[in-house]
Amino acid sequence: MVIPYARQSVDETDVEAVIRALRSDWLTQGPEVSRFERAIAEYCGGHDAVAVSSGTAALHVAALAADLKPGKRLWTSPNSFVASANCGLYCGASIDFVDIDGDDGNISVPALKQKLDIAERAGLLPDVVVPVHFGGQSCDMEGLAALRERYGFKIIEDASHALGGRYNGRPVGECLYSDMTVFSLHPVKIVTAGEGGIVATNSNALAEKLRLFRTHGIVRPDEAEGTDPWLYRQVQLGYNYRLTDLQAALGLSQLRRIDDFVARRHEIAERYDVSFANTPVRPLARRDYAHSAYHLYVVRLPPAQRRAIFDGLARVNIRAQVHYIPIHTQPYFQAMGFKTGDFPVSEAYYASAISLPMFPGLTEADQRHVIDEVLRLAR
Ligand SMILES: *Cc1c(COP(=O)(O)O)cnc(C)c1O
Repeated sequence: MVIPYARQSVDETDVEAVIRALRSDWLTQGPEVSRFERAIAEYCGGHDAVAVSSGTAALHVAALAADLKPGKRLWTSPNSFVASANCGLYCGASIDFVDIDGDDGNISVPALKQKLDIAERAGLLPDVVVPVHFGGQSCDMEGLAALRERYGFKIIEDASHALGGRYNGRPVGECLYSDMTVFSLHPVKIVTAGEGGIVATNSNALAEKLRLFRTHGIVRPDEAEGTDPWLYRQVQLGYNYRLTDLQAALGLSQLRRIDDFVARRHEIAERYDVSFANTPVRPLARRDYAHSAYHLYVVRLPPAQRRAIFDGLARVNIRAQVHYIPIHTQPYFQAMGFKTGDFPVSEAYYASAISLPMFPGLTEADQRHVIDEVLRLAR
C-alpha cells in the first residue's frame, strides 16, 4: 500500500451529487455552476466568484482582468507552481520574481519593498503582484497591501493551496487586501471538482470581465434591447474556460465538508509538529496571523540528507514530494535570462524541503509509520 503525499476525499454524497447533475438538463456550465459560485462567495465572505476550468485558467483570466498585456509586468514568488508566473506570460506581460522568507516559504515583504524601490527608480514598477499562500498559510497581507498603496500595483492572491484558510481571522478569498483571489480545485487541493478554478472578487467590474474572458469574450444583448433573439456579440478575445455542471456539483458537495477537511488537516499537522519537536526535522514557521488550510505539510531537512531521506521513504512506499523547484531555475525561464543564484533564499529552501503525506484520509496508523520512518532516516 502506497501512502501518497496528497489525495482527494470523495464520499457517497459527492458521487450522488455528480449523478444528479448527470441526469439533469445541463452538463456544461449551468445552474450548478451558478450555485457553486454563490456558495464559494458566501463561504469566503466576498461579493462574487467566477468558476473556470482550472486554477491555471483562473490565474489567466484574473491576469487579463487586471489588464496585463505586452509592456506590463507581473511579479510573483519563485516558490510556486509554474502557473503563478505563466499567467503573466500568457498575456504577453513580462515577469519577474521576489525572493521568499525561508522560514515560511511565502513572498518576503522586505525583499519586495527593496525590489520595488529599485524598480521605482528605474521606472519599471510591476502592474500586478501575485503572492502565493504557500502550503495554505496566508502571506502577510497587511504588509503587501501597504506596499500596494505606496507603489500602486494590483494584487492577485494565488490561494490555490488556501481555500478554507484564514488571515487575521478572516477567510482567504474575502479580498480585503487584494483585487482578486484565485483557487484551484485540482484533486490534491483542499476541495476538488476533478479539475477547476475560481476567481473571487469584490469588484463587479472585474467579475464582469472575468466572465467575458471565460466565454470567448461574447456578450448576449439584453432581451430588453429588443434585438434579434439569436444575436450575440464578441467584444473581446476570450476563451472557453467553462467549468461543467458535473464538476460544479462535485465542488459544491465537497464544499459542504470543507471545515471538516481543514480541521482534519490541522489534527495531522499537530501530530507531525509534536513528533518532530527537538529533532533535525524542522516544520515551516507558523505565523500568528494565519490559520493555514494545510494543503502541504513541509519539513526542512539537512540538505545533505534530503535525497537519501526522500529515497528511503519511497522504498517503504511513502511518496513524499518536493514543493517547489524554484520557477526561475526551470529551463524555459533560464532561456528567458533568469539564472540560478538569482533568488538564493528560494534555492536554499528548495534544497532542504520535502512535503510529507497530508490529506484528510491519512489514518493515524499510516501517519505514525511516516513519522517513524522520517525520524529513523533523519537520525
Ligand atoms: C495547483 C496550483 C495551480 C494551478 O492549478 P490547476 O487547477 O492545477 O490549474 C496554480 N498555483 C499553485 C500555487 C498551485 O498549487
